Amino acid sequence: MCEVCGAPLNRRDLPGDEVWNCDGCDALYVRQADGALLRRPFPPADQRWAAAAPAAPAASGGVRVEHAVAYADTLCGIERDAVILLRHFWSAANPRACAECRTVADGRVARWPAETGR
Ligand SMILES: [Zn+2]
Ligand SMILES: [Zn+2]
Repeated sequence: MCEVCGAPLNRRDLPGDEVWNCDGCDALYVRQADGALLRRPFPPADQRWAAAAPAAPAASGGVRVEHAVAYADTLCGIERDAVILLRHFWSAANPRACAECRTVADGRVARWPAETGR
């Protein structure tokens, strides 16, 4: 269970470290050598989510909206399979940023501010 928001954790199928994530607050946990599950600090807002574009741009009128992606879906609720990951972080300051994702991201950042310094 997530120590921050109490939501159940999901194990990510990644090579290497055993990583768990929380869909509630986007916390990330990594299994330590001693068996403990340690939460990583929340990154700054513009390094917290990957950016993704719709797999079918026509559906968005040809405009390349950028969504913020968590592990299971985008912050605005689009399935991960329906978007293509871009090679940069999502930023609310990007004029193409999805408005709904921005609203959700703002809420989460306000509730769980960055814990890492720059
Ligand atoms: Zn959580
Ligand atoms: Zn979105």
